[in-house]
Amino acid sequence: MSTHQEYSFFDAVLASFDKAAKFTAWDPGILEQIKQCNSVYRMHFPVKIGDKIEVIKAYRVQHSHHKTPCKGGIRFATTVNLDEVMALAALMTYKCAIVNVPFGGAKGGINIDPKKYTPYELEKITRRYTHELIKKNFIGPGTDVPAPDYGTGEREMSWILDTYTSMKPGEIDALGCVTGKPVTQGGVRGRREATGLGVFYGIREICSMPDMMEKAGLSKGIKGKRVIVQGLGNVGYHAAKFFREGGATVIALAELEGAIFNPGGLNEEEVFQHRKKEGTILNFPGATNILHSPDVLELDCDILIPAALENVINGENAPRIKAKIIGEAANGPLTPEADEIFIKKGILVVPDMYLNAGGVTVSYFEWLKNLSHVRYGRMEKRFTENQNSIILTQIEDLTGKEVKAKEREIIMHGPDEADLVYSGLEETMIGATREITEVWKSNPDIPDMRTAAYVVAINKVGTSYAELGIFP
Ligand code: GLU
Repeated sequence: MSTHQEYSFFDAVLASFDKAAKFTAWDPGILEQIKQCNSVYRMHFPVKIGDKIEVIKAYRVQHSHHKTPCKGGIRFATTVNLDEVMALAALMTYKCAIVNVPFGGAKGGINIDPKKYTPYELEKITRRYTHELIKKNFIGPGTDVPAPDYGTGEREMSWILDTYTSMKPGEIDALGCVTGKPVTQGGVRGRREATGLGVFYGIREICSMPDMMEKAGLSKGIKGKRVIVQGLGNVGYHAAKFFREGGATVIALAELEGAIFNPGGLNEEEVFQHRKKEGTILNFPGATNILHSPDVLELDCDILIPAALENVINGENAPRIKAKIIGEAANGPLTPEADEIFIKKGILVVPDMYLNAGGVTVSYFEWLKNLSHVRYGRMEKRFTENQNSIILTQIEDLTGKEVKAKEREIIMHGPDEADLVYSGLEETMIGATREITEVWKSNPDIPDMRTAAYVVAINKVGTSYAELGIFP
């Protein structure tokens, strides 16, 4: 939620859009159409909790219909409001365009504190919300496909799927009505870690570019970089994991109740287990406590990864930020004032709408899997392994040398679902990073990477409107 009463997240998205629109050549009418939310559904519905009736406030916003279905997560939080859902829906449109995922942007939210309800009560709320979406044709594999977001996960997606399929018996592609499902319910392997992994792939690509690293005042490569991750939810946890595995040192981790710091490095899984056991991230063995969690953002580091909620870095604290690169794993963690400050300070901000696109990219793979009704790799895995075996045997016969068992195993391996999903995600993130940085380099007046990302997104959505025409 906004820490400033007057802050509008949607206005911030519009401001970033306008800043970038100057660098495109689209008709002002097209630009206005791209900016606005196409359909906004605000609902109130009653749910019986114990012996009381609670009226629940919820939303689904479809920002753009230039491609269908619309796509975007559903958030459960007390901070959910129309402004936030509109902003997040708009970011989904631009995010999908940047990573070439053929969807329009959408977002949903229910204004509740999920921790206050039992699983049974949450299921009732989720099912009722899904029912409301079905009634207004705001869900379906060809119209609008929700996914997890802050406060929701595989469990909620299963309830949504079950509600949808029970209301639409016999609909052959019904599994594609929602993504982020458990693998046992039509989910895809790799979806859970996709956003965090995408963040890692994106930053790794930036860190491999000499000119970008020169801009940031850092040496090339991920190895040895000091990383701070704010938020140990699904996205933050996996981002920390892949940075650590990639050779970086995660020096601080933060949660709502506080943060911990250890310049020698933290293991996210150990911290996660500690928090589960103790009920707090604080007092982790060998680490220093930071009692006021937001202070962690101001520590000296190379890469800062805000992976929680919007507006955590703003005009107030931005002047004190010491990171060289900020990778926006959350949606909207920086306000426009913070952006301006970082442009002046020369801090490289890698923007949310592309950096955290790993989630929706793998959601796209899940949706494709659901429409094709077959697991990735099922048809080709054995065939590839058999071919590889023949090639290896031929090489051995021709050279008279035997390939070692370990190498044989690696070379033989045919792709399974997780391999293909990881590969598709890596390709997507590398491609998007290059496209955005090229646009940025091509015009010296483009002030930052966010503006370059918006230029890429606006041009793609604009091209859709130009080619499809405007319906009379
Ligand atoms: N909620 C995620 C996001 O903000 C994922 C959306 C999706 O998979 O549709 O990108």
